[in-house]
Amino acid sequence: MNVPERIDLDSRAHTLTLHWPGARAQCVSHAALRRACPCAACRRIRLAASSVQAAEDVAIVDIYSMAYGVQIIFSDGHAQGIFPWPFLEALGAVAA
Ligand SMILES: [Zn+2]
Repeated sequence: MNVPERIDLDSRAHTLTLHWPGARAQCVSHAALRRACPCAACRRIRLAASSVQAAEDVAIVDIYSMAYGVQIIFSDGHAQGIFPWPFLEALGAVAA
């Protein structure tokens, strides 16, 4: 399992950049991460063949590192999402 060497949170550009081993940088927008949230509630919404709604200007306000990924706290109050490293890596580079 790859683990990022560094994570940069850009609060102005609303992007999160993950620096993977091998000098690979992955830039994902905050809104894309919010929509991809893997928590149980968001999964249920997707299972109902709907999509998770997020404002374009939704922002990441905090990140908590865990051994297997990160918990991301969003400005809309959503904080249940724990994003495992392989999940983040598989997202690829996602713009807003
Ligand atoms: Zn969620």
